[in-house]
Amino acid sequence: MRKPLIAGNWKMHGSLSQAKSLVDGIKQHAAQYADIDILVLPTFVHLYIVHELLKGTAIGLGAQNLYLGAQGAFTGEISAAMLADIGCRYVLIGHSERRTIFHEDVELTAAKFKAAIEARLIPILCIGETREEREQGETNNIIQKQLDPIIHSAGIDAFRHAVIAYEPVWAIGTGLTATPLQAQEAHAYIRQIIMKNNVDIAKTIRILYGGSMKAENAVSLLTQPDIDGGLIGGASLDAASFLKICAAASQEAAALKAH
Ligand code: PEP
Repeated sequence: MRKPLIAGNWKMHGSLSQAKSLVDGIKQHAAQYADIDILVLPTFVHLYIVHELLKGTAIGLGAQNLYLGAQGAFTGEISAAMLADIGCRYVLIGHSERRTIFHEDVELTAAKFKAAIEARLIPILCIGETREEREQGETNNIIQKQLDPIIHSAGIDAFRHAVIAYEPVWAIGTGLTATPLQAQEAHAYIRQIIMKNNVDIAKTIRILYGGSMKAENAVSLLTQPDIDGGLIGGASLDAASFLKICAAASQEAAALKAH
């Protein structure tokens, strides 16, 4: 059984005091959901304080990006080794906002994925199609084009220590959500690609859904057989909303256990 993972991507939001109160709010109830993994991904400047505040809890910490190499003359960048050093376990790789706003191409995404693995961070590789690509029936092609080069460059074994997030670009921050069926089909396709490379990894890798997941739609998405959790943007900035999604995932984990 794959343990559900609910990850909160805070993006470029929040002040120091807001970060502290968000963590406090999540911490108060997170222990009830021991059957799932909970993770927060604050901004770089808030990582250290959040790390301190999370001590003694099971809540994981991750970053939203990294740069290549351990250190060097890369003004403004942060390396995988630095993230690991301050207590991060996870890092987002290839978020669509990195690909579109910052023009990160598939080669850079693949290199960042490898850098995360080499630093023993767990990369959460984000993939997904735009609205036009979906309308043109290109969803599966795009998924394959985004995933294959990473498998090729890092090797399938690297995916033993990775998470994939299916994030249809048209659903991110828009309030539009993939239907449970659309999401399930994409997740099943992703798992099939992994399966062609390694059956065991396909069975164990967690594939998260991301794109306007919130309390109201979490149950219908999280009960799909190939959806193993969520990458949550907007709804992760409010402790009560985020915890409702954690509760939905925990309910699904309990139901799976009972079968
Ligand atoms: C995201 O940023 O990965 C995301 C899914 O955002 P939102 O939940 O706001 O759509």
